[in-house]
Amino acid sequence: MAAVSTRAIVLRAHDYGDSSRILRFYTEGFGLLSVVAHGVRGRTGKGAGGVASFASGELTAYVRPHRDLHTMKDFSSTRMREGLARDTLRFAGAAVAAELVLSHAEQERHEGLFEALGRALDEVEGADPVHLPWAVLSGLWRLIEALGFAPQIEACVRCGTPLGSGDVGRFDIVGGGVRCPACADTSQGPRIGPVARAQLVEMLEGGVPRPLTHARQHVTLVADFVAYHVVPRPLKSLPFLSSLLPTEAP
Ligand SMILES: [Zn+2]
Repeated sequence: MAAVSTRAIVLRAHDYGDSSRILRFYTEGFGLLSVVAHGVRGRTGKGAGGVASFASGELTAYVRPHRDLHTMKDFSSTRMREGLARDTLRFAGAAVAAELVLSHAEQERHEGLFEALGRALDEVEGADPVHLPWAVLSGLWRLIEALGFAPQIEACVRCGTPLGSGDVGRFDIVGGGVRCPACADTSQGPRIGPVARAQLVEMLEGGVPRPLTHARQHVTLVADFVAYHVVPRPLKSLPFLSSLLPTEAP
């Protein structure tokens, strides 16, 4: 059988048997791909060192149709992203991104998701500490968008009226976006004012990073949105991410 090559990002790795590892990749060509890397443990040098979580590189594997586990031939890492281990919030942010992709993506090519994941991890790794919550949340919203579930922020999800610059509406989780003040009274979602709306729009556009106010409330919003629209159960890594962020009055 011929081996195939594709750009790939390591999402998770664990030991298998005495000397092997099972690696879960998000790949450009095949979507999610689980491979067994035979005999890599205990080996020193590039081959073994290139299989840490969040590394990007070129994966060569024997991919059999209709199988869940494939065989790795080689992984040559081009970007280790070791900076993600520099502090807990960075690592927690990367872990949420990985869990989101692992929970929803499938073993098939998904346009734009590979780029969104790589960019999210790069920005979380490279952000200065004051912009780090912004980088984490922005990466998650753009992954959600790449998965096909972008929220509607600028016009009311119920009546379609664009929200005015001073309007305080509500975020309707079930409806998938904001409600204008006139429709807000029938929604149970969190209040959302002009500042938080502008932050959401900029995060979705990958705009210029800035200090994120009410980061913990933003994480709660992302968690509720993902749990309703994207994956059938809450992401396990989100409460830990939230616990690392400062508490501010709503
Ligand atoms: Zn409305």
